[in-house]
Amino acid sequence: MTTPTTFEQWQTLAKNLQPETRAFINGEYQSAQSEKTFTRISPIDNQPLAEVARCDKADIDAAVACARKAFDQGVWKNQEPSERKQVLLRWAELIRENVQTLALLETLEVGKPIGDTQAVDVPGCANAISYYAEFADKLYDEIAPTGPHDQALIKRMPLGVIGAIVPWNYPLIIAGWKIGPALVLGNSVVLKPAEQSSLASIHLAKLAKEAGIPDGVFNVVPGLGEEAGKALSEHDDVDLIAFTGSTSVGRLIMETAAKTNLKRVALELGGKSPQIVMDDCDDLDAAASAIAWGIFYNAGQTCHAGSRLIVHKNIAQTLYEKVVEVANSLKQGHPLDPTTQIGVMVEAEHKAKVLEYIALGTQEGATLTLDGRQPDIDGAASDHGFIGPTLLTNASPDARISKEEIFGPVLVTTEIESEEEAIAIANDTDFGLAAAVWTSNIKCAHRMSEALRAGTVWINTYDRASMATPFGGFQQSGFGRDRSIHALDKYADLKTVWTHFG
Ligand code: NAD
Repeated sequence: MTTPTTFEQWQTLAKNLQPETRAFINGEYQSAQSEKTFTRISPIDNQPLAEVARCDKADIDAAVACARKAFDQGVWKNQEPSERKQVLLRWAELIRENVQTLALLETLEVGKPIGDTQAVDVPGCANAISYYAEFADKLYDEIAPTGPHDQALIKRMPLGVIGAIVPWNYPLIIAGWKIGPALVLGNSVVLKPAEQSSLASIHLAKLAKEAGIPDGVFNVVPGLGEEAGKALSEHDDVDLIAFTGSTSVGRLIMETAAKTNLKRVALELGGKSPQIVMDDCDDLDAAASAIAWGIFYNAGQTCHAGSRLIVHKNIAQTLYEKVVEVANSLKQGHPLDPTTQIGVMVEAEHKAKVLEYIALGTQEGATLTLDGRQPDIDGAASDHGFIGPTLLTNASPDARISKEEIFGPVLVTTEIESEEEAIAIANDTDFGLAAAVWTSNIKCAHRMSEALRAGTVWINTYDRASMATPFGGFQQSGFGRDRSIHALDKYADLKTVWTHFG
């Protein structure tokens, strides 16, 4: 099939799409045992998109039992590492070949522009799987330095059954970040996608089987968080919950782990990331562009969105004007239009929550310098799902809009007069996912990057990323890392085997 290039072509494809909506357990698609479904409404047109299997404890029990059986029988972990690598690489290739369907499913479910799901999300998922595939036959275990009569071998052992619970904002990429390292080490996986974004993950499962992942090793169980997600996190035969989502649900998962089998947890949670711009920044145009993209990309529904701008008062007005100019140049429109840069909010309740924060901002004394509440949308049937780029300037650092994760296209600014003040405000948060510093003073950049409490600090840039760099948070943004060689640590236990030759 030729790749669609126009809005009309994508719309035709969308009309004819018949997505699989059932769970994938033990290598087969199956309805929820209760036969229940839930309706996914597309945020693009507010129309029902699919009736998705509403799995609950019974289905989670079945998926975990199959995953455990596959693990214990060694159908995957005992394969030659080079064979496992080939299967994972084949899976990644199939994901790339299916970019059209996967991108369309994700766009229809979450309202993200098709250009992004096609160029970023689907390739991002495939790249994560192929990145980790390569470790299969390149990662060595260790021999500890001991005396000549002993050998102490330190081996990475797969944990067993991994429960991966993921959010809706980057459903495929984040799933890939967890599935890749878990599978390459020989674990089995039960993936619970967010209820807003199940369809692309369900489609991934078919490709896993086609690639040669043995039955039971990779399972996808859609359902509601309080039903399927809760049952997975409570399950006594799950060895790790690898979770990405809100801090409040992360807290519940940690409590549940403590109350059940003390399973391991890895939590990638929310953020309120600061972008600091000092008055010696020598490229305000570059800063304005990165600041605007850093918060408005994906309509601000990004965990590491640069949602706080902390700017030196000498350059604040100039910078605001430049940010507004970039914001106004971004094309917001129908998510199936390939020229759209910002789509719709994921659902009506979420849009309402973001609008409440904008209203709160003005009540808290901030100035609404750019109001995105009623954006003028080109080519869209209605403006129901949209919020345009919004700028709330001169907010108090103690205001709720400066402290809480809004998860929308809302940039909140505070003005400062010194480096010390900037750091104090930037670090006065429960979160710690990411931060950025804009300055031409290398010493100041170094001091600030040392002082900022965040898992990633960007200097004179924002949102540069690579599979080779770890991603995750300090403080209540979570712990454990996705991406890079370090992510592998979460999915293995170390075993030491002593042999005495005395
Ligand atoms: P969410 O916490 O509401 O849901 C995340 C997942 O948890 C979903 O699959 C959901 O079904 C499940 N869930 C909900 N309640 C549950 C429960 N009681 N037990 C078990 N599972 C449950 O988050 P969301 O709204 O889908 O995503 C947005 C949040 O995710 C934001 O806070 C964002 O910052 C965060 N996020 C973090 C990162 C990161 O890497 N740090 C990346 C993306 C998103």
